Parts: sequence; structure tokens; C-alpha cells
Amino acid sequence: MAKILCVLYPDPVSGYPPSYVRDDIPVITRYADGQTAPTPQQPLGFKPGELIGCVSGALGLQDYMEKKGHEFIVTSDKDGPDSEFEKQLHDTEVVISQPFWPAYLSAERIAKAPKLKLVVTAGVGSDHVDLDAAAKAGITVAEVTNSNSVSVAEHVVMITLAQLRNYLPSHPYFEQGGWNIADCVWRSYDIQGMKFGTIGAGRIGLAVLRRLHPFEMDLHYTQRHRLDATTEQALGLTFHADSGSLVSQMDIANLQVPLYPATRKLIDARMIASMKRGAYLINCARAELVDRDAVVEAVTAGHLAGYAGDVWFPQPAPAGHPWRTMPFNGMTPHISGTSLSAQGRYAAGTLEILQDFFNGRPTRPAYLIVAGGNLAGTGEKSYELR
Ligand code: NAD
Repeated sequence: MAKILCVLYPDPVSGYPPSYVRDDIPVITRYADGQTAPTPQQPLGFKPGELIGCVSGALGLQDYMEKKGHEFIVTSDKDGPDSEFEKQLHDTEVVISQPFWPAYLSAERIAKAPKLKLVVTAGVGSDHVDLDAAAKAGITVAEVTNSNSVSVAEHVVMITLAQLRNYLPSHPYFEQGGWNIADCVWRSYDIQGMKFGTIGAGRIGLAVLRRLHPFEMDLHYTQRHRLDATTEQALGLTFHADSGSLVSQMDIANLQVPLYPATRKLIDARMIASMKRGAYLINCARAELVDRDAVVEAVTAGHLAGYAGDVWFPQPAPAGHPWRTMPFNGMTPHISGTSLSAQGRYAAGTLEILQDFFNGRPTRPAYLIVAGGNLAGTGEKSYELR
């Protein structure tokens, strides 16, 4: 029987469970690329639509795993050498963590976990794990590919509109008793006709392009593997050979590539300087894809009209993180991929991965990032180790 260490974000400050505003959510059985939604063996330890991404929710796994005889530890205490996470690592076989509250698995921490065999990202994006160190240690890294891609794409569309239409600063005026129309609209624009480009048109990036197409925007993308001609034509996409060509021409540039050594600070001060004055940067991928301080300088100086997203480094963001107070930011904590809808899918996918692991069955290739000492599955297509 195994020891499973599950790191989740803290419960709501108002207590758990919350009072839910809806009684049901739509059932999604298949994703846009044809992949089926998670198919764990029943029963799920939760009702889809419940808050299970926090400690008391335990991804709905606690009872099931304990009945199977495993030791299942759930904690949100993840940072520093005295954290519960680090204290438990020495004899842990499986680590589960979410990118929203990442348990950073550095090479040093992996070295302290000699029994570790499987690391599951309940969600998408496994950069909180040192993938090179995991590969060298023979650890399998898997994530629930596709589980929250639409959740993030919807968020990207929302914050793109919110930024361009100046929604966030306009909202408080009436609450404060005002009717400040000129103060709201002096930086409000239609997105129709604007150039929108995404760096990375994988599951999320392509879902964003599909959702923005009806807005009659001029859509662009760059990524490692060019999309097929039918998709390009259907969405009117212009392909760019590299990120530099793309960002220099865009009104709105969106980041949707994974974080790995070669993409760290992909958007640096030089790249930002090449962007049009008044361009917007949207980033719901990973914070370290951009130079944090170069973004602050460009937004403060008015070179960028705004920066919006939900990803920070580190997470949780420290109180003094400059994006908390940066002008014209459309930031939230890391929430786009953990809507209640997404939680049900990635919790079911986590259960599927665990059931396959404990029953000696292969993991779906689409879920794999690292296996057998190297990148595998989705990892092979989307990441580089060094
Ligand atoms: P994906 O694997 O489907 O797509 C990533 C795409 O990036 C691939 O098509 C790949 O070809 C391309 N790519 C990789 N390196 C590139 C490079 N250097 N230049 C151009 N293209 C490159 O992944 P996805 O599901 O679309 O997710 C993308 C990222 O979004 C994840 O890795 C994760 O970091 C982030 N994410 C964030 C949230 C959130 O809640 N904010 C949720 C899910 C995923």
C-alpha cells in the first residue's frame, strides 16, 4: 500500500462546504480534439460541480484511497523545509498537486524522495516539477490533459474583452454612487478588427482562437507544429514563423505555451519594446514566460496598454509582488483552470491515473509528460527538458 501526498489550496475563509449557487453542471464527455473526458472506474467521491480542489474537498479521493488501504495525506502547507509537504516526502510514493497552489518539486526535493514513483498534476502544466530531475530519477509525471483547456480559454476571452472595454475600472464607479461615463470610456475599444495573436495554439490556444473568431478579429498564431490548412482557413489564421514576428504586429498578444528552460522569459524587455504602443499582453499560461519587471515598466510607461492573466511566480504571490499594484492590470489569483466545472474533470482524471497506476495499467499517452526517463506523450510534443 502506498503513501499518497496531496497538496491542495486552502478551504474558503467562510468555511467548507460553501453554499452552492447551482444544482448541476453540464456533462462534457469529449473534447474538441476527440479525446474522451476522464473515465475512472466508478464511483467518484464527489458530485461534479462541488468544490473539491481545496483541502477539505481532497479531490474527492480521500475515502476511496483509504478504503484501498493507502495512506492519503492532504495539506496546503507546501513551502519551505519545515512544511508538511517537505516533511512527508521521504517515504511518499505518489505526489498530487495543482498548478493553482503548486507543490514545487525541485531537484533538491526529488532527491529527498527516494520512493517517489508518480507525480500527478491535477490540472494542466507540470512546470512546478523539475522535469529533468524527475526523468533522471525514473519518476512518471502525468497531468489531466484537456481537463481545463476550455475553462482557461473562456477566461482568456473574458479578460481580453475586460481589458479592451475597460470593464474593471468602470465597474466600481456606479457602486460608489457615480455615473462617470467619460472616465469609463476614455480607454474603451472594440476588439472587432484588432490583430490578436497567440504564441502557442495547442489545446488552449486553439480554443481561444475558435472562441474569438466570431468577434471578427484578425487572428494570428505561432507554434512549433503548424496547424492544418483546413483549421487555418476556417478561422482565417495567419501563421508566424516565430514569436518575434508575431508580437511586433499584434494589438493583443496572448501566451499559451508551456514553461520550460527555453521559454523562460520568452517575453523580455526587448520583445516588449518591439510591440506596438498600446498593445495588450494576456498571459494565462505561466508567469515566468515574461520578464516580471519589464512588464511593470512597460505598463507604467504606457508602452503596453495593459497586462492581464492569472499566473504568478511564486504562487501564492507574495504581498509585495509588483503586479498586485501595477496600473491597468486585469489580474486574478490563479483561478482560470479551476472553475467548479474544471475541478470535476481533473479530479476524475486524477482518479483514472491513480487507478491505472495501482492496477498496473498504462497511463493514457495524452496524460504523460515524463515517463521511462524521458519526455513522453504530451510532454514530448509540448516540452523540452533542457
Ligand atoms: P498544449 O500542450 O496543448 O499546447 C502547447 C502548445 O505549445 C503545443 O502545441 C506546442 O507545440 C506549443 N509550443 C511549445 N513550445 C513552443 C515554443 N517555444 N514556441 C511556440 N510554440 C510552442 O498545452 P495547453 O493545454 O494548450 O496548455 C498550455 C499551457 O497553459 C500549459 O502548459 C500551462 O502552462 C498553461 N495552463 C494554464 C492554466 C491556468 O489555469 N492558467 C490551466 C491549464 C494550462
